[in-house]
Amino acid sequence: MSTIGEAIDANETISVNCHDPRCQHMSRLDLDALARQLGRDHGVMHQDIAHLFRCERCATAGRPPAKVGLTRIPDYKASLASSWARKPD
Ligand SMILES: [Zn+2]
Repeated sequence: MSTIGEAIDANETISVNCHDPRCQHMSRLDLDALARQLGRDHGVMHQDIAHLFRCERCATAGRPPAKVGLTRIPDYKASLASSWARKPD
């Protein structure tokens, strides 16, 4: 997966988390909104989009903008559906 559209189609979840240890705010990224803004063909890797986000909580608290991290979470239900076969007795 490398584009926003591919991440949407794969039912991935992407969370954005603040790296300031005083904050550590985490929220789920709205991939549909991101696709409307950037297009479905825009890259979705850390280097493609991480610079677009800054932590609102840190800004409200008057802290300098911290780096943010992205966590990509695969479609959990789909991965369960293709899970391990039970070993025959
Ligand atoms: Zn923060």
